[in-house]
Amino acid sequence: MIPRNPHLAALKAGYLFPEIARRKREFAAAHPEDPSKPETRIISLGVGNTTEPVLPRTTAGLVEGARKLGTVEGYSGYQDEGLPELRKKIAGVFYSRSAGPGGEGTSPFSIDEIFVSDGAKCDIGRLQLLFGSETPAVVQDPSYPVYVDGSVLIGSAGSREAGEAGGGYGGITYLPCTAENQYFPDLSLVPENSLFYFCSPNNPTGAAATREQLTGMVSAARRQGCIIIFDAAYSEYIRDPALPKTIFEIPGARECAIEVNSFSKPAGFTGVRLGWTVVPKELRYAGGESINADWARIAGTIFNGASNIAQAGGLAALSDEGQKEIRRLCDFYLENAALIRSALSKLGISSVGGDNSPYIWARFPGRDSWEVFAEILEKCRVVTTPGSGFGPSGQSFIRFSAFGHRADVEEACRRLSFI
Ligand SMILES: *Cc1c(COP(=O)(O)O)cnc(C)c1O
Repeated sequence: MIPRNPHLAALKAGYLFPEIARRKREFAAAHPEDPSKPETRIISLGVGNTTEPVLPRTTAGLVEGARKLGTVEGYSGYQDEGLPELRKKIAGVFYSRSAGPGGEGTSPFSIDEIFVSDGAKCDIGRLQLLFGSETPAVVQDPSYPVYVDGSVLIGSAGSREAGEAGGGYGGITYLPCTAENQYFPDLSLVPENSLFYFCSPNNPTGAAATREQLTGMVSAARRQGCIIIFDAAYSEYIRDPALPKTIFEIPGARECAIEVNSFSKPAGFTGVRLGWTVVPKELRYAGGESINADWARIAGTIFNGASNIAQAGGLAALSDEGQKEIRRLCDFYLENAALIRSALSKLGISSVGGDNSPYIWARFPGRDSWEVFAEILEKCRVVTTPGSGFGPSGQSFIRFSAFGHRADVEEACRRLSFI
């Protein structure tokens, strides 16, 4: 028989979200919902999954994309790195200094630096193949689980303590992001020649890094020979005009950063599946080889590109009208976030996030996250996410997601007074 990939055994027990789903199921089995009593219904503000329908212009793009496949002229097959029109549109809409609805300036990126994918999470998993297991990984603590779990799967997890190196393994360093450092890590802890995963606006803390913080991060990365994998999945939730929406607003980032982004959260494409990765041509390995060329190779080798229907939807979402829809959808979730923050604040629970991101990070000093999770589930019938599931520094926090129908969010906010 064939042995199991030993790295699978190094994954922490159970992925966070299946564990939450299990606890919710157990609770629901023990406390069945009574359709005649709306207050018995379980409301989820847990998983970061979008809930609102795709808006009309974007939907029309998806429909048209499917229709074209049924015609001789409109048919298309494999397109490993994405439709050229979409890559061009992404370069113009997201990376031009003067970009904004209707106005695309000249992009600093050519289309062969923009790679369309089936989502940011999948791309993060594939990006790890570029660097292998001997490259140390650095993550914010708490962090979105795929950075750590993906690194563990390729065998990076020799050591989990800051500064230590594991035998033949790069190791994973956790950089605490806590109330004390305003949820931005101490950059002096970043090891040399490491792969630095950074997410802003952040999942789970909701913190959005300032221009000054990102400038410090880019100079630290260049000084230390690091590459930043910048996860900008929530960039469209930024409302403060002073905050950078991409790492490439920071001078020098082209020499040290790869950015992943996605249509999932701004356009409601979590199930449609569409994202992109920017790999600047300046990026090199220690031996001088082009990282961009290797990424193109991986795209054609173990990935055959995103669905052309999804890409037609993406193009529509980036039309002037589509961008207004994105704005409207993000505003809706941000209004949910404001309701949750205000409900927490009335209860004297301190929280951050929710103003430039759809997540609220609430603090329960001295308490265990899973215990607070259980209390909120039992007393309010509201599912949240225990902060400790995102890393040790998430202990005593609860993440509230603003993805939900308005009536559910309002009802959840009302019930929060039961805790
Ligand atoms: C939801 C999310 C993504 C998006 O992943 P997709 O695969 O594009 O759906 C990426 N990064 C973070 C931090 C997320 O929360």
